Amino acid sequence: MITRDYIEKFGVLPTPFYFYDLDVLKSTLEVLKKESVKTGFKIHYALKANPNPRILGMISSSGFGADCVSWNEIEAAIRSGFNPSEIVFAGVGKSDHEIRSAVESDIFCFNCESIPEMEVINHFAGLQNKRVRIALRINPLIEAHTHKYITTGVAESKFGINTWDIDEVLNRLPDLKNLILIGIHFHVGSQITRLSVFKSLCTRINELQEWFASRNAGLKVINVGGGLAIDYENPENFPKFGEYFSLLKKFVDLRPGQELHVEPGRSVVGQCGSLISRVLYIKNGSNTRFAILDAGMTDLIRPALYQAHHKIQNLTSTGELNRYDVVGPVCESSDTFARYIELPETKRGDLIAIRSAGAYGEAMASRYNLRDLPRVVFSDEL
Ligand SMILES: *Cc1c(COP(=O)(O)O)cnc(C)c1O
Repeated sequence: MITRDYIEKFGVLPTPFYFYDLDVLKSTLEVLKKESVKTGFKIHYALKANPNPRILGMISSSGFGADCVSWNEIEAAIRSGFNPSEIVFAGVGKSDHEIRSAVESDIFCFNCESIPEMEVINHFAGLQNKRVRIALRINPLIEAHTHKYITTGVAESKFGINTWDIDEVLNRLPDLKNLILIGIHFHVGSQITRLSVFKSLCTRINELQEWFASRNAGLKVINVGGGLAIDYENPENFPKFGEYFSLLKKFVDLRPGQELHVEPGRSVVGQCGSLISRVLYIKNGSNTRFAILDAGMTDLIRPALYQAHHKIQNLTSTGELNRYDVVGPVCESSDTFARYIELPETKRGDLIAIRSAGAYGEAMASRYNLRDLPRVVFSDEL
């Protein structure tokens, strides 16, 4: 919650900065913990959504594992208190160096996406005389009904092993003596608002389970990936962990001894963060007025990258409502946070909050135009 009290304290701080409300994060983690205890599902937080060390520290202290997509993420996770035995390593292009380091660290599992990748992991595991656990990331061929850049589970996607290739993978496995197949892994996409998409995934999982059983391939882990949406329109709303977990519980037919793993990213951290900036200028366009902020796409790229919608609030003005295009200072036309939105009369110096920016915000910041990386302020520092 961005209270009056916080807004007064923002007044003296240099902008732009990410504001992380640790009470919101804490409550989110409590809800998630409760659901995971209730269902017995194991949670691996997807670090890529937000790898800020303080945030990672809170998530690891809640007893969750980590889902990493680079060696640097694995290192960051370990540094922030995650146990290597609770770290999974995903990604379509793991480099030799990353694989070697991850084998050395004895992580829980490699989520594999191709036979050539499995051969390389097998090679480096062999050099260290180890047998490492792998899961097969399978392309579930499900339309996620989200933006195409964050859809991952359709036929033309680079992610996952296609179902028609799994047979070949299983035939190859006996030669790869340093790999132990422990499970199957999926990830349909991100910001999935329709729970029916996850229901389709459950059906696909049950079909594949039959298939693996018919090949006598025992699977211990069924990993459904991440993707649960947050409500960008209502930053105060918690993600629907309860409904999502109940659906998985009801529709995935787990076999005796099997564990269900979930990898939420956005839903864990999205609502605890806001990007706070100041209005630099108001400029009249031909049929719009631009509110030009000191924050831009280098701080929060989601609107420019996938036309993402964030709720924008003027924290200081109480004037009459007017229409604005809210833009950043970067030399790109796509550096636009929102077009034609209503804000109270906005002027130079007003504080603007771009809400629900805790996931894929700071994590994706860049130094394009040689801009400074955004600062970070935690609620307990104010
Ligand atoms: C990105 C990603 C996640 C997290 O996705 P969210 O939509 O942020 O929950 C989980 N698993 C894998 C494999 C991913 O690539």
